[in-house]
Amino acid sequence: MSPPYVMKRTDIKKLVEAASNEYDVFGPVKKRSKHVFGKIDNPDNLVMDYDSTILSPRKYFQPQNEVMMSFDLEENKVEDTLDELRAMRPRLLMAVHSCDLNGILHLDRVFGGEYTDKYYFARREKTTIVGINCLDSCEYGFCRSMNTHHVVEGYDLFLTPISGDRYYVQVGTAKGEHLVHMARDIFQEAGPEDFGAFKAALKHKNESLPHEVDVEGINEYLDLSFHHEFWDKMAEDCVNCGACAMVCPTCYCYDVVDDLDLSLTSADRTRKWDACLFQEFALVAGGHNFRESPAARFKYRFYHKMRGFAHDQGILGCTGCGRCTAACPSDISIKDVLKELSGIWEVAPTAQGGK
Ligand code: SF4
Ligand code: SF4
Repeated sequence: MSPPYVMKRTDIKKLVEAASNEYDVFGPVKKRSKHVFGKIDNPDNLVMDYDSTILSPRKYFQPQNEVMMSFDLEENKVEDTLDELRAMRPRLLMAVHSCDLNGILHLDRVFGGEYTDKYYFARREKTTIVGINCLDSCEYGFCRSMNTHHVVEGYDLFLTPISGDRYYVQVGTAKGEHLVHMARDIFQEAGPEDFGAFKAALKHKNESLPHEVDVEGINEYLDLSFHHEFWDKMAEDCVNCGACAMVCPTCYCYDVVDDLDLSLTSADRTRKWDACLFQEFALVAGGHNFRESPAARFKYRFYHKMRGFAHDQGILGCTGCGRCTAACPSDISIKDVLKELSGIWEVAPTAQGGK
């Protein structure tokens, strides 16, 4: 285990410059009034102190559109893109917030396990991640309620802004240590004063991040509420646009489509993001749709995140990043949904009769 370091915040530029010799560097950049994760060709464009990004870093591990293989029947040829992925240049992903590091850990669980997704893990293995601690809350997030405001794994380096315009640098992996050695002169081993400054930063964080939503008992609330009219009321304004799912760091559903050429003899097999909010999502052969109504699809998204994922993985499938609220054209807030849901049962659990 490497010791913690400290570095000047202005030296981030030097770190990116040194890393660019070996990595393609990505991180938050300004886009009109918002921020997005983008390629950092100029270190001046990297924004370390940002509120949130439109899309999460999920796009670097599971792209919106990904050609998995191409085939040509006339030439009797099949090309898998996996070899290309495995040969790709290493990537450095800068300034990933704790909620999004937790989001990546969620995706690791989904794409790992019994049926490991080789495309996902080829990208994952090629990526070094520098996380950053948020000491203040962002506009829509509720990470503290979801216990994603801190991380113990999932980063290679983790930076906490401390006094004196410096970062306290924790090393999580050998990849992180490698990065330190690429720009060794900007890092100093942390000493007692730095430990004090780090502790003060964590104290500030502890006092500033609000605990807004109580998710204790959410499993039980959901079990009791499946047929409750609450869902129809909540879904009234939902237009099933799917924006909430597209921006979500823990949504991972996809469709696989063969894009055939006109001769119908060759095709690219493409994996594309999909969402349970879309009408065709639960449409099966024979024309039956398991979730025909918009309200059923709205409800399903919550049940999958807060009940199904917890059942399968032992944790809730939401990091509290708040992106779904920010993106929703109907102003539907996940915090409000969760608060109202728990409110139903706290008021009169037996009088509701489980309806
Ligand atoms: S973003 Fe809002 S309107 Fe669109 S599907 Fe999600 S909840 Fe419904
Ligand atoms: S459901 Fe909303 S708040 Fe939760 S992780 Fe997804 S986008 Fe973030």
